[in-house]
Amino acid sequence: MSDCIFCKIINGESPARVVYHDKLVTAFHDLHPAAPVHILVVPNRHIDSLNELTPEDESVVGHMFIVAGQLAKEQGIHEDGYRCIINTGAHGGQTIFHLHLHLIGGGRMKYPMG
Ligand code: 5GP
Ligand code: ZN
Repeated sequence: MSDCIFCKIINGESPARVVYHDKLVTAFHDLHPAAPVHILVVPNRHIDSLNELTPEDESVVGHMFIVAGQLAKEQGIHEDGYRCIINTGAHGGQTIFHLHLHLIGGGRMKYPMG
C-alpha cells in the first residue's frame, strides 16, 4: 500500500526507531509512547486489520506474538509484566489501518490503558 505509513516504515521510505526486522515482521518504537516501553510489531505484508485475516495469516500473527515476547525480554519488562493490544476498527480505537500489535510496559497499567 503506497500511502500507508507503516508500509513506508517497513520498506525504509519513512524513518522510525526500528528494533527488530525479519522476513515476516518489523518492530519499531511508537512515535507517541503511552508508557516507558511502547513498541509496535507489524506484519511486513499490508493487512488492514484483524478483520481481514485469513487462515493463511496464522503463522504471521503467531510470529507477531513470539517477537513481542522476545522484545519484552530485551526491554527488561518481562518479569514485571506488560500488555499486548491490537485495536480494531473505529470503536477499538484503530487509527492506522495496517495491522499492529502494541507492546506496552514499564509501569503498572490501569484498565484499559494508561
Ligand atoms: P492504533 O491507534 O491504530 O492502534 O495505533 C497507532 C499507533 O501508531 C499510535 O500509538 C501512534 O502513536 C502510532 N503512530 C502513528 N503514526 C506513526 C508514525 O509515523 N511512526 C510511528 N513510529 N508511530 C506512529
Ligand atoms: Zn501498510
